Amino acid sequence: MERSCIWMKRLVVIGIDPVFLVNTPSSISSLRSQSSSPSTLVSLFSRHRSRSLSSTACSLSLSALPIEDDASILLNSGVADSKIIGENSKTLLKGMRYSELEKWVQSHGFRPGQAMMLWKRLYGNNVWVHSCDELEGLNKDFRKMLGVHAEFKALSLRDVRTASDGTRKILFTLEDGLVIETVIIPCDRGRNTVCVSSQVGCAMNCQFCYTGRQASFKMGLRRHLTAAEIVEQAVFARRLFTNEVGSITNVVFMGMGEPLQNIDNVIRAADVMVDEHGLHFSPRKVTISTSGLVPQLKRFLHESTCALAVSLNATTDEVRNWIMPINRKYNLDSLLGTLREELQHKHNYKVLFEYVMLAGVNDSMEDAKRLIDLVQGIPCKINLISFNPHNGSPFKPTKDEKMIEFRNVLAAAGCTVFLRLSRGDDQMAACGQLGKLGDFQVPLSRVPTRFESVLSGA
Ligand code: SF4
Repeated sequence: MERSCIWMKRLVVIGIDPVFLVNTPSSISSLRSQSSSPSTLVSLFSRHRSRSLSSTACSLSLSALPIEDDASILLNSGVADSKIIGENSKTLLKGMRYSELEKWVQSHGFRPGQAMMLWKRLYGNNVWVHSCDELEGLNKDFRKMLGVHAEFKALSLRDVRTASDGTRKILFTLEDGLVIETVIIPCDRGRNTVCVSSQVGCAMNCQFCYTGRQASFKMGLRRHLTAAEIVEQAVFARRLFTNEVGSITNVVFMGMGEPLQNIDNVIRAADVMVDEHGLHFSPRKVTISTSGLVPQLKRFLHESTCALAVSLNATTDEVRNWIMPINRKYNLDSLLGTLREELQHKHNYKVLFEYVMLAGVNDSMEDAKRLIDLVQGIPCKINLISFNPHNGSPFKPTKDEKMIEFRNVLAAAGCTVFLRLSRGDDQMAACGQLGKLGDFQVPLSRVPTRFESVLSGA
């Protein structure tokens, strides 16, 4: 059984757990002291725009919606333009790909070579600058221009909590006061992973996930993160923890949010992360996860070389409609048919299916056999993930022995399958333990009659 990093997903619970060990290493303290007050953020290319947080979806009262409609309504809601504009119209550097940074630098009268020197200080050479003051070896006039026109930071460090297994959860405050979480999962085989968030909250309302349950005035999704806010989570991970845990080698977009609902910013952020002169993550080690937004998934496979993970979690539409409402819009046939078709055109590429195992819901041997049939013809790996219980969900985890039995059925049929056990759960940094439960919660879906007894424990 592979018992490696579980960077797994969401089931998110935020909040302050009194058992957390608050770890504030001196390096972090010093960074805090270096940090200016919450950065003023600005749009790409210095265009002053007012913040646009559409409340279309967020103001929906899900409890008032027919159960069949909630996911599609949320999907079509066009929530939240992600640009955040500061008062001073400075350009947020980490929101740009290199080609864009180069043009921007040239537009201010400086050479492309200076753009590259800046890029390397932002992302490479173990520098990861957070302010103009940290720029060394750059032309004085260039630094002066950056001081006037550029903003270096998109996030303010708020707290770091360390689990007994070494998993760290970082809390960041955004310019508008919202809080996101990022998780660092150290691994003893030299593979350290940062799990980044792509949205504040989530509209998908997966029934096993605490992020999806968190709400403010019944909004599951508050807003998309900007590309800069996503990129900077990885930059912070390297800046804060490289000395402590070693190189951060992997990125998974499995924190708060449905990444492909914020596809423009996610693809842009991933492009920055894999740039060979900067952070230089291997595209195979940057994994974007989705609950199954089929059109966006197609676009992602066409536009990005990064890896894709799909949260599957059920083998029938009946169960998936219930536990992942997005299935009512894009059912299993549509999702898996699209993958089967699209992956024919990708060379040497495997999708990762994530399967959170829920006792009595999706863990029968019939499920195992159906799963084998469903993934036929799709180049894939399958992660069987143990469920992290939380007070926002009625589910219970499948017992280890049953997970192993399930795994063995898949393996015997020739599937590449792994078991992923939970990491960081004592610090609420595990799969499904990010976020904070507020006064309002997105309502749970109606439980299909035949599962009522399972959930009631009868
Ligand atoms: S898509 Fe959203 S609700 Fe579903 S598991 Fe991911 S974060 Fe949770």
